Amino acid sequence: MAIQRTFSIIKPDATKRNLTGAVNAVIEKAGLRIVAQKRILMTRAQAETFYSVHAARPFFGELCDFMTSGPVVVQVLEGENAIATYRDVMGATNPANAAEGTIRKLFALSVGENTAHGSDAPETAAQEIAQFFAGNEIVG
Ligand code: ADP
Ligand code: MG
Repeated sequence: MAIQRTFSIIKPDATKRNLTGAVNAVIEKAGLRIVAQKRILMTRAQAETFYSVHAARPFFGELCDFMTSGPVVVQVLEGENAIATYRDVMGATNPANAAEGTIRKLFALSVGENTAHGSDAPETAAQEIAQFFAGNEIVG
């Protein structure tokens, strides 16, 4: 399996509870390397662009409110099969359904305030990374 990159966000519920390091420890223990990372306050426009695939969903407004409610940590993760590996490490969207030891089982508060984002495919990973990072900000 090839080395891949995926895009990750540590969401406001986690930064608020000072869990950035705890989430990063789970990421690194899973063998993923954090090759870019910055703490930002997402603008409304950035959140709406990022989640545009969900624009018609009933939770879209609430999701954009949440993602702009406090700092987030945007990251690029690198490793073997990184996209699927990180989805496994995060666990199910709803923490009630997430497996033991996953980020969402360990830390998420609800289906909305669920601590982490991870890309779902190579195309979305490339697009999401490009939304937040210039090439020279990623150091593998
Ligand atoms: P994932 O983040 O696991 O890829 P989705 O792409 O389906 O999940 O949803 C994007 C984000 O929207 C979720 O991580 C969560 O923050 C929020 N979300 C999803 N479903 C709901 C819901 N039913 N109610 C509120 N927020 C939701
Ligand atoms: Mg998704």
